[in-house]
Amino acid sequence: MTDAATHLHRLIRTIPDFPEPGIQFRDLTPVLADGPALASVVDALVEPFAGSYDIVAGVEARGFALAAAAAARSEHGLLLIRKAGKLPGETIDESYTLEYGQATLQVHTGQLPAGTRVLLVDDVLATGGTLGASQRLIERAGWHLAGTSVVLELDRLGGRERLAPHEVHALLFL
Ligand code: AMP
Repeated sequence: MTDAATHLHRLIRTIPDFPEPGIQFRDLTPVLADGPALASVVDALVEPFAGSYDIVAGVEARGFALAAAAAARSEHGLLLIRKAGKLPGETIDESYTLEYGQATLQVHTGQLPAGTRVLLVDDVLATGGTLGASQRLIERAGWHLAGTSVVLELDRLGGRERLAPHEVHALLFL
């Protein structure tokens, strides 16, 4: 097992019935709180893509913490994919379906040159709705999706299939 996977096995907490009955919530806050674990996890997120990306994108809100650490460790900048209504400049947006209702994500346009290679990072791949919308935003903005990397893939929820043909790099499967 890799160093990162060992840390994750030790530190990820499973909270039953949060935020609603039937959900096994995977809590990564103990990983963020442990310095060596955080460094090893964010290094493992970007390592397969070394040399092939220009900037790391994180999805609000949990993805921000991991993407910022991954960007700084690899000396790249950070692109914020935000919930609707938070970015002050010109934006494009993508909506996706949640269990109840819809959510919308946005990015600033005109901030990065066309063809910028973007590595997308998030905490958990569940149904793939969030990452799918993020991938569409990156492509519609005229950038190149260099890869998609997550800490944890919940592999019974069909997220990977939903994101095809884009590949996903996951550090741990539960
Ligand atoms: P999805 O769009 O269904 O792939 O879900 C994406 C987001 O929901 C992830 O970025 C997580 O932050 C969160 N999420 C979904 N399911 C879980 C879970 N079981 N434990 C922790 N976070 C989750």
